[in-house]
Amino acid sequence: MLICMWCGKKEMDIKESQMVKFKGEQFPVCCNECKEKYEKTMNKKNNSRKLYLFLLIISFLIFIGICTVSGVYGLLFLLESVGLIILFYPNTTPQTVKVLGLEKSRRVAKIIAVMIMIFGIIFSVAISLTK
Ligand SMILES: [Zn+2]
Repeated sequence: MLICMWCGKKEMDIKESQMVKFKGEQFPVCCNECKEKYEKTMNKKNNSRKLYLFLLIISFLIFIGICTVSGVYGLLFLLESVGLIILFYPNTTPQTVKVLGLEKSRRVAKIIAVMIMIFGIIFSVAISLTK
C-alpha cells in the first residue's frame, strides 16, 4: 500500500503519485502540492544545517558552563535548549515517515520537544522545592 510521504494520505492514485528522495530512500507523494511542500521544507532544512550544528555546539558549551555552577540549572538548560532545537528543527526518521507521513512526523517531533521542555521545568522546580 502506498502512502503519501508528506501528508500521510493512504489511498493514493498511482497515476498521480510521484517519487521524492528522503534520507537516501525513495518515497511516494500523492500530488504536486505535497511534492512542492516537501521540497520547500527540505530546502529550508539544508540551508539551516550549519546553524543547527552551531546551535548544538553553543548550547552544549553553555551547558558545561552552567554545570560548573549548578547541576540542576545545567540540566534545565540542556532540556530547554534540546526542546527548542527540536521545535525549530524537527528531525524525523524514514521509519516514522513511512507510518505517519513527513508532515505528521514533524508535528509529533514538535510535541515531543514541548514535552521535554515541560518536563525540564517540572523537574527543576521539583528539585528546588525538595532542597
Ligand atoms: Zn499527499
